Amino acid sequence: MTSAYDTNNIFAKILRGEIPCAKVYEDDDTLAFMDVMPQAPGHLLVIPKAASRNILDADPAVLAKTIAVVQKLAIAAKHAFDAEGVNVAQFNEAAAGQTVFHLHFHVIPRNEHEPMKPHSGTMADGDVLRAHAEKIKAALG
Ligand code: 5GP
Repeated sequence: MTSAYDTNNIFAKILRGEIPCAKVYEDDDTLAFMDVMPQAPGHLLVIPKAASRNILDADPAVLAKTIAVVQKLAIAAKHAFDAEGVNVAQFNEAAAGQTVFHLHFHVIPRNEHEPMKPHSGTMADGDVLRAHAEKIKAALG
């Protein structure tokens, strides 16, 4: 069964400017901002502006633009946090762990021997998230 896109999901509200985010990057088609419950320092989310629940109902042309931004931000976040690696993760529907139903890619800088915190765990301090967003923006050049 496929569910419809809900225009009141939290990322749609962020896109409309109804709730704030620690913005890292924006272009005509894409927005990136810090995850409020980071699983590691520098955890950010990349979302297309076009509405889709997840990868299953996304337009392939939108996906192509989004993944190019994911790559750009994975490189910048790895550099900004001097990380050894980066996880890129993306969940589709609740059974697969999706909790917000607007397509998004997680970009998480990683270091060996530093386990990731739980998904949707603890809220981070807003000032810290804004500082991390600035660090990644600076690495974007
Ligand atoms: P999902 O489980 O759908 O792949 O991930 C949703 C992500 O969105 C989670 O990592 C969660 O921490 C994050 N998140 C949930 N609500 C908000 C919010 O209001 N603002 C931001 N920036 N991130 C959120």
